[in-house]
Amino acid sequence: MGEVEVCNKQVILKNYVSGFPKESDMEVKTTSLKLKLSEGDSSVAILVKNLYLSCDPYMRSRMSKLEGQYVDSFTPGSPIVGYGVAEVLDSSHPNFKKGDLVWGITTWEDYSIITATEVLFKIQHTDVPLSYYTGILGMPGMTAYVGFFEVCSPKKGERVFVSAASGAVGQLVGQFAKLFGCYVVGSAGSKEKNKFGFDEAFNYKEEADLNVALKRYFPDGIDIYFENVGGKMLDAVLLNMSLNGRIAACGMISQYNLEQQEGVQNLFCIVRKGIRMEGFLVFHHYHLYPKFLEMIIPQIKEGKITYVEDIAEGLENAPSSLIGLFSGLNIGKQVVSVTRG
Ligand code: NAP
Repeated sequence: MGEVEVCNKQVILKNYVSGFPKESDMEVKTTSLKLKLSEGDSSVAILVKNLYLSCDPYMRSRMSKLEGQYVDSFTPGSPIVGYGVAEVLDSSHPNFKKGDLVWGITTWEDYSIITATEVLFKIQHTDVPLSYYTGILGMPGMTAYVGFFEVCSPKKGERVFVSAASGAVGQLVGQFAKLFGCYVVGSAGSKEKNKFGFDEAFNYKEEADLNVALKRYFPDGIDIYFENVGGKMLDAVLLNMSLNGRIAACGMISQYNLEQQEGVQNLFCIVRKGIRMEGFLVFHHYHLYPKFLEMIIPQIKEGKITYVEDIAEGLENAPSSLIGLFSGLNIGKQVVSVTRG
């Protein structure tokens, strides 16, 4: 086969971002690429065609100039890097071959050459939608699983509150908790997002006093809080936690675009009520992925768990999809479909 040269559309970060990200912080450019790894190159790499890209809140921090953080900054002038689903076109890596489907860290472009193959998983189950590997069967799914089952130490019958409850992670935490036999309440930013079959749900934007709202749904206190948003919600939750309650600190999206983080007033509740609040990062738990798949694949196939996705078509729509996370435009997991068919 000759070396076919193709157009390669890329989503570039123009400059570091401060405050809320804007579409104009990114641009879509077209370059070209040979659809074959160069034979003289001794480095181990795989060439992939990207199929689906994942929009994730943590990507916002990578758009800033960071030092000493758990992730590195993106490089201005270069394409954005993130989770995705891809098909292998060529490989010099012994574990991957042409035709394999993979999920993991790739680049926001049509075709990528991946050399950092540590966070790349070969897809074994293809009788489910491939886009699921950006969500329920990928990083967000693992986040919900680890955060709920490993960090929250749930017990049947406990009262669970989930914020950003309709999102990639939240919709799963709520469903895991329901299946486990917990009472579950979720909060999200609009009425149409509150549909996930939890016991109760409320729109936090319509509540004048979050403390009052939480008391309405948890008159006897919250045993488990799955924290996705931080800020005022965390403060109100602390007032409503039960004795020996647990908080899984997964994320605090309300703070990601603020120049100055909001303070938390009610931290003493942690002492008084013996609350355990524990943060976690999903990529420290990827060794549990096979165990997670064993649990989740049958649940998907039996219809016990459903997953809502919000799929934008084409790399041109990737910048608006990414920034939409921070104003709650996504209903379910925000995915970008790079190509169809
Ligand atoms: P997502 O919920 O699918 O999307 C983000 C949602 O956050 C938006 O749809 C919006 O929904 C809500 N939001 C945005 N700004 C907000 C604000 N100022 N106050 C309250 N809610 C706001 O995102 P996700 O992927 O599931 O991530 C959820 C959280 O988990 C994030 O904090 C993320 O950083 C974290 N996370 C952590 C890990 C880890 O390893 N620890 C891994 C993955 C994700 P509304 O309409 O409800 O406002």
